[in-house]
Amino acid sequence: MNLKSYDIIVLGGGPGGYVAAIKAAQLGGKVALIEKEVVGGICLNHGCIPTKTLLKNAKVYKTIKHASEYGIVLGGDVSFDWSLMLKRKDSVVRRLTTGVSGLLKKNGVDVISGFGKVLSATKVEVNGEVFETKNLILATGASPIIPPIPGLKEAYEHKIAVTSRELLAIKDAPKKLVIIGGGVIGVEFATIFSSLGSDVTIIEKLDGIIPMMDDDIRSQYQKILKREGIKIFVNAEVKAVKGNEVTYQIDGKDETVTADTILVSVGMRPNSAELEVLNLKMDRAAVVTDEHLETSVKGVYAIGDLNGKYMLAHVASAEGIVAAEYIMGKKDARMRYDRVPNAIYGSPEVASVGLTEKEVKEKGIAYKVSTFPLQASGKALADNEKDGFVKLIVSEKYKEILGAHILSYGASDLIAELGVTMTLEGTANEIAHTIHPHPTLSEIIMEAAHGAVDKPIHM
Ligand SMILES: Cc1cc2nc3c(=O)[nH]c(=O)nc-3n(C[C@H](O)[C@H](O)[C@H](O)COP(=O)(O)OP(=O)(O)OC[C@H]3O[C@@H](n4cnc5c(N)ncnc54)[C@H](O)[C@@H]3O)c2cc1C
Repeated sequence: MNLKSYDIIVLGGGPGGYVAAIKAAQLGGKVALIEKEVVGGICLNHGCIPTKTLLKNAKVYKTIKHASEYGIVLGGDVSFDWSLMLKRKDSVVRRLTTGVSGLLKKNGVDVISGFGKVLSATKVEVNGEVFETKNLILATGASPIIPPIPGLKEAYEHKIAVTSRELLAIKDAPKKLVIIGGGVIGVEFATIFSSLGSDVTIIEKLDGIIPMMDDDIRSQYQKILKREGIKIFVNAEVKAVKGNEVTYQIDGKDETVTADTILVSVGMRPNSAELEVLNLKMDRAAVVTDEHLETSVKGVYAIGDLNGKYMLAHVASAEGIVAAEYIMGKKDARMRYDRVPNAIYGSPEVASVGLTEKEVKEKGIAYKVSTFPLQASGKALADNEKDGFVKLIVSEKYKEILGAHILSYGASDLIAELGVTMTLEGTANEIAHTIHPHPTLSEIIMEAAHGAVDKPIHM
């Protein structure tokens, strides 16, 4: 029997897999993409996009509640309808996933619906049919970890404890939400529900929330969340869950908090269990890859959350492009992980690229820090936004950008300028002498750059 054969089969249609498939097809490859659910993966269906849509809903609600600050007089109470918010979220998701399906089709990628069972490095079975491939790109993503805390599994089975996926489809907005884990996902949900009036508590095992960020940003961000009414307990370890009671240990004492919903957001585990047949080199559940994303088995690649390097959609897509280009003959295609931007979407946002001050110190690099606050930005004040600052870390001698950290509304968009500067190995001099439009938020970066070279103008 003749098997249908491809140059590349991509397993999993998230931002890693679908981008890899499109790029490989654009470069002339015969490509199939296997997806068991809906293309777009966690990011489009249950992650990045749904959370940002709900964050916008929450922000609009909060802004309307503060309408008087803008001279707007409202008659009567302001309220929200959670089911309509979910409806808007679902329609945004549908529009994007339909768009991705269209792009795959337009680029000539065969999309095969169903669970892909890997039989070998060159054969995958879907719905009883076997497909053959010269190269296999694995992009099966990751799933939330439910840690072995006594009672948590039972609470999850009784739907009191949920992961982000269930919370994004919950019937009613929780009144009392306890979040186990103060990472990116935890703080984004804290912002959504606290803005909608829920009583929110974050319990974090480490000494602070959002551990991947620069310490100055972390402490300021934590203060802002607390000011907004979010309760945050750090150095606090959840010991047990009993029904809707969460017991955690802090300063050697047990404390208990009740919740109608408990969000478990302590991290994600790569979906590698079904790939054992390939006998790939592993680092726990993550598949080990080289700079071209090739695994220990020739012709097999692992991109996105599956390789556990950076569990971010834009990294998954960048890796997908590198793997596709490398397979299609661009042998110089390789990943650089030192300029990966990180972002947290809330009010305000946090974004960073490059090294934190702590990392620069650890590396023993001579450096200079320059900061500039939002308070001194005309555009920020016009927008009624006062919280935040930009922090640039530059090399002492040449003022090369080593790290950039922004706490501000719009930070996730602003950070791209610094990523480009770093890619071009640019310095604070180039940023300071680049004319930024006025009044814009981007001026805070220019001012911080002036501060790194000499002194800021508006401070
Ligand atoms: C709540 C939340 C918010 C997030 N927000 C952001 C954000 O703002 N920015 C950001 O950069 N990242 C964010 N992330 C992380 C981001 O979603 C992931 O990094 C990204 O989706 C990883 O892409 P991927 O292609 O590796 O895997 P996934 O998106 O997980 O896609 C994997 C796909 O493979 C399919 N699949 C798995 N096994 C098989 C099989 N055997 N056969 C067929 N199909 C299979 C799955 O159905 C899935 O569609 C968020 C995550 C969550 C949970």
